[in-house]
Amino acid sequence: MLVVKKFGGTSVANKERIYNVANRCIEEYKKGNDVVVVLSAMGKYTDELIEKAQDINENPPKREMDMLLTIGEQMSVSLMAMAMAKLGVPAVSLNGFQVAMHTTSVYGNARLKRIDCERIKNELEQRKIVIVTGFQGINKYDDYTTLGRGGSDTTAVALAAALHADKCEIYTDVDGVYTADPRKVKSARKINEITYDEMLELATLGAGVLHNRSVELAKKYGVELVVRSSLNTNEGTVVKEGKKMEKMIVSGVASDSDAARVAVVGLKDEPGVAFKLFNALAKNNINVDMILQSVGRHGTKDISFTCSSLDADDAARIINDSMEFESIDVNKEVSKVSIVGAGMQSNAGVAAKMFEALYDANINIRQISTSEIRVTVLIDAKNTERAMNAIHDKFDLGEN
Ligand code: ASP
Ligand code: MG
Repeated sequence: MLVVKKFGGTSVANKERIYNVANRCIEEYKKGNDVVVVLSAMGKYTDELIEKAQDINENPPKREMDMLLTIGEQMSVSLMAMAMAKLGVPAVSLNGFQVAMHTTSVYGNARLKRIDCERIKNELEQRKIVIVTGFQGINKYDDYTTLGRGGSDTTAVALAAALHADKCEIYTDVDGVYTADPRKVKSARKINEITYDEMLELATLGAGVLHNRSVELAKKYGVELVVRSSLNTNEGTVVKEGKKMEKMIVSGVASDSDAARVAVVGLKDEPGVAFKLFNALAKNNINVDMILQSVGRHGTKDISFTCSSLDADDAARIINDSMEFESIDVNKEVSKVSIVGAGMQSNAGVAAKMFEALYDANINIRQISTSEIRVTVLIDAKNTERAMNAIHDKFDLGEN
């Protein structure tokens, strides 16, 4: 059996943790399995490297940024190989270049295109544990690239797909995926199984345990994932195809307080207005969601949308420069609260039940958006935790 194991930064943060991971991998190896290990940089090392760069140049060339950031993962894999050698097990570390993880050219946010498996397979055939740097690759200019923050998960899933691994385990510092952030909702419970689509929604909403592109990739190639803790032997959460499991109506509640709402009042009610507005934003790389357009009256209409609070002022300025309207309002004191569940598609009244929970808690909804398996409301940021708890209770998601 071939197993890919990925360990995040906290799992390799110091000597003791590195040996802990080494021992876990050796245990797997001694069962006779082939083991490929993917590592992130130790602890907050990537953040430290970013700070160092900022200190030298607040606007560093992107190519050089990637050149710098790849150090973090290279440090973890080499130290891990040394730990395994010390424990008497043959291991080899490989970076993105040595494996040959081919990516697109975009520095800082590259996508994996193709992985050469030959070197890894040769090393496995010699019964070595193969330890690979997460988060990095090379582009067509033979330059290092990185896959975006949290990208090591994606490296692991891509490797599992390319090597046709039998298992892909993502080790982190929590027991798995929870029904809500346990720091915000005390009764939050670990989820045993979740579908790719639900996990993708949760990851995109900022649930943090998995890089969202890793989930996309896992779904595309049918790689079953297990998210579990490196600090204990609890079962973890299995992420897999929905056909293979009983679908929960609601699996989890997530929140995103990075949201801001921009409301543009008194736009002309004529064709092309929405196009002009969102095209101007798109050209400036501003991502929007939760778009709402009012019913037209007296020849005018209103459009509001949400975006990252970091982008909100820019968005308002861009709209000011490109449109005619009466007034614009930016509100950064809002947050998005969502419920996610694959069973929503076939059950009526799920959204109503969520709204009822908010009504009971006397929390006003400013905006609503839905997908097939998600309902999101925009509320005042100060109510976020209360809303999450009310919804979590209403759907009985907690420990019983
Ligand atoms: N070390 C990188 C980061 O901190 C990649 C990862 O941890 O997945 O974003
Ligand atoms: Mg991570």
